[in-house]
Amino acid sequence: MGQLDGRTSLVTGGNGGIGLATAQRLADEGSHVFITGRRKAELDAAVEAVGADRATGVVGDVSDPEDLDRLYAAVRARGRGLDVLVANAAIGEFATLEQTTQEHFDTTFAVNARGVVFTVQKALPLLNDGASVVLIGSTAADRGMEAFGAYAASKAAVRSFARTWSVELKGRGIRVNVVSPGMIETPGATALLGEEGARAARTGAAETVVKGRTGEPEEVAAAVAFLASEQSGYVVGANIYVDGGVNQV
Ligand code: NDP
Repeated sequence: MGQLDGRTSLVTGGNGGIGLATAQRLADEGSHVFITGRRKAELDAAVEAVGADRATGVVGDVSDPEDLDRLYAAVRARGRGLDVLVANAAIGEFATLEQTTQEHFDTTFAVNARGVVFTVQKALPLLNDGASVVLIGSTAADRGMEAFGAYAASKAAVRSFARTWSVELKGRGIRVNVVSPGMIETPGATALLGEEGARAARTGAAETVVKGRTGEPEEVAAAVAFLASEQSGYVVGANIYVDGGVNQV
């Protein structure tokens, strides 16, 4: 028996990297999983990877309110509400303070902060009492790293949302928590850093991370699965780092 037998989950940005590993894990725990992402071919592949009987793909952009309405119409049509909502979709591009344009800042916040707000707000009528909302943050929110300004600030916003929404939603028993990954090997991270940068991150991790290596998407998914389940029933408004101990060396 899985911890999420008979439950319904939704993972935004579930067609790759951490989102796909999370969708797979939630399905393995017994949940039906809705997955969203902007690229249809990748989304179809993700649904196939999770299992067409256990997953439903809905193409959509979390920064577009109409797309979110279509997504939730599909969830509503299934008729079981939502027990687990994972706001994972995010984008990251490097820009120093000097390089930051209004477009860079607005696009980052439209997906990573505003997208999270309306992903959760529009889910409210569908969230079952006792549901678990997990927001994906980042260790970038804690650290001074060159060219991470808008991204890191958007991830700091996510942590703040979790604390506020935990209070606002307490009457319905809905818990909101954050998982903050460190350096995890995903297609998104490789695209951002480039092959060479990804290699450098891998080598650097030997010295800057207690575990001495970068993380796997499945290791983040395990923390999400814990927060999604009733095992974490007394964990509210918390932030769980899955970073191999990056702040401790
Ligand atoms: P990827 O880039 O590999 O995956 C991101 C996913 O989000 C893709 O499936 C992408 O699909 C989707 N996505 C992006 N923008 C949107 C949008 N506007 N609407 C809907 N879906 C969208 O990223 P990771 O797996 O690396 O990251 C997942 C999460 O973990 C993010 O929140 C990221 O900030 C966070 N994180 C990752 C770290 C890492 O080292 N990998 C470290 C710390 C945090 P599509 O392009 O089809 O829309």
